[in-house]
Amino acid sequence: MGVLGFLLEVVDVIHEGKGPAAQALQAMEANPYEMFKTQVRLAGQKLGLPADLLKIIETPERVLEVSVPVKMDDGRIEVFLGYRVQHSSARGPCKGGIRYHPAVTVDEVKALAGWMTLKCAVVDIPFGGGKGGIVCDPAGLSEGELERLTRRYTAMILPLIGPSRDIPAPDVNTNAKIMNWFMDTATVLRGEPMYAIVTGKDVAVGGARGRREATGRGVMIVTQEVLARLGKDLRGATVAVQGFGNVGSVAALLLHQAGAKVVGVADISGGLYHPSGLNIPELVEHVARSPRHVIAGYAAPGVVPIPAEEVLTLDVDVLIPAALEGQITERNAPRIKAQVIVEGANGPTTPEADVILEERGCIVVPDILANAGGVVVSYFEWVQNLQYFFWDEAETTARLAQIMRRAFQDVWNLAQAEKVSLRIAAQMLALARVAEAIRLRGLFP
Ligand code: NAD
Repeated sequence: MGVLGFLLEVVDVIHEGKGPAAQALQAMEANPYEMFKTQVRLAGQKLGLPADLLKIIETPERVLEVSVPVKMDDGRIEVFLGYRVQHSSARGPCKGGIRYHPAVTVDEVKALAGWMTLKCAVVDIPFGGGKGGIVCDPAGLSEGELERLTRRYTAMILPLIGPSRDIPAPDVNTNAKIMNWFMDTATVLRGEPMYAIVTGKDVAVGGARGRREATGRGVMIVTQEVLARLGKDLRGATVAVQGFGNVGSVAALLLHQAGAKVVGVADISGGLYHPSGLNIPELVEHVARSPRHVIAGYAAPGVVPIPAEEVLTLDVDVLIPAALEGQITERNAPRIKAQVIVEGANGPTTPEADVILEERGCIVVPDILANAGGVVVSYFEWVQNLQYFFWDEAETTARLAQIMRRAFQDVWNLAQAEKVSLRIAAQMLALARVAEAIRLRGLFP
């Protein structure tokens, strides 16, 4: 039975055969938290985990909603809505980013927190999952407004977080500068250094060397691993990358340096194609110099501009979606030619597209494994902050590679043994680890 058959069957079981499964699937897609819960139930049933235990894992431990008043530059006071969700601390302190976006909802934050629990468990680092968000449009805020918003939000969630409780990090529209303010605010309010309360900071204020490159490096490592399992060499393999930001540009550069031919890239400004491989170091330099940090305006002999969406359907060995969620859909999946997809972005493939890809024999390395390099090096940053002992970049890189390779091997072995996709295997592996921690700890009181 394909993944869709399996999904529909279980959705029908959940709905006691009353509602059409397709409608249930639609509802899941519309609400990420419903989708998370369904994934937990599916993987849990495959593992034979008791329903009571799954109930614990489906539900976040804590959900904090805060209202964040900010004095705007024109003297008005605006009140922003913010959240911090602690999904699970079964395997360690909660860990996960903070998102600034107008579309943030509590259900989105709950789902993202749950996926962080699974991501940390797949790579077997001693963290649970958490996530935060503020409903705001950072593009419409001045630097001063953004700083006051960040500092007040930090103060509002401070009673619940801390280096041994819950450690935030950057996510969509948040960056090292915001993490620096976050750490500084906690330090001022607590009256003692609080470097380990947040990761993703600049190196001068406790950040880890190699953190910026970590997610892209992890993507490169798992690409190498999956190709090796298929008997293919990374050298000479053709690659297309969607998104040329932090994850996409670093992955493209490292793959290029390892001998792969990155023939296509795309970002918000368009796409570029060169049949014998783009000069990625030159393109990275161009993007760094470009005022909007985009690939538009780059020209070189043999380079052809293509529409951005065409990068997904190029005839390549490996496709790396590293832009946004929901990019590979039932509309474009039938035209995807890559044998391997490595999900640099979070949630780039819709469940319907997943089914089409699996039926066509395309191997998808799922996001919770493929892009976990960032959280692994966040873990290293936290360790270094707690010890006041900082590593050089070579140590970070070597330890990151070790963890990513081991995690890939674990997921690959389980997928082979259970005859399931890498996505389902990653979810099963993660869930089994979380469930074991809950079982061993027992239930208080
Ligand atoms: P980023 O903002 O640095 O880069 C995003 C890139 O996507 C940009 O080049 C942008 O132009 C491009 N893009 C946006 N819309 C596009 C479109 N319609 N078509 C083609 N390109 C488009 O973001 P990032 O940090 O690289 O994150 C990318 C993805 O990876 C996100 O899903 C994020 O959640 C995920 N991720 C990031 C990290 C990390 O450490 N940065 C870790 C794990 C997962």
